[in-house]
Amino acid sequence: MNQSRRSRKKYRNNNAHQAGQPKPEAPLVFYRCPKCMHMFDIRAEAVACEASHLIPVSVKAKRFTIKPYPYTVEVTFNNGEKKDYNAESLGG
Ligand SMILES: [Zn+2]
Repeated sequence: MNQSRRSRKKYRNNNAHQAGQPKPEAPLVFYRCPKCMHMFDIRAEAVACEASHLIPVSVKAKRFTIKPYPYTVEVTFNNGEKKDYNAESLGG
């Protein structure tokens, strides 16, 4: 019992000693967009970033070469926009 009380007092004294020193910094909190992995200090910005990414809803082959895969595909996104993608880096 006595030992326990003494330990607690010592613990408090240690804290009091540290009170004059700079406080340890609060843990860093950040929020990450799950789609692009960009990090934000504010949660609402991460939520807005996630919502800003367009989701493909359909893909249509537009141009073929001698290779089996299409060279150009047209992707339609969930906001109705369409964008062409070329297989330049895919060897297609
Ligand atoms: Zn994002």
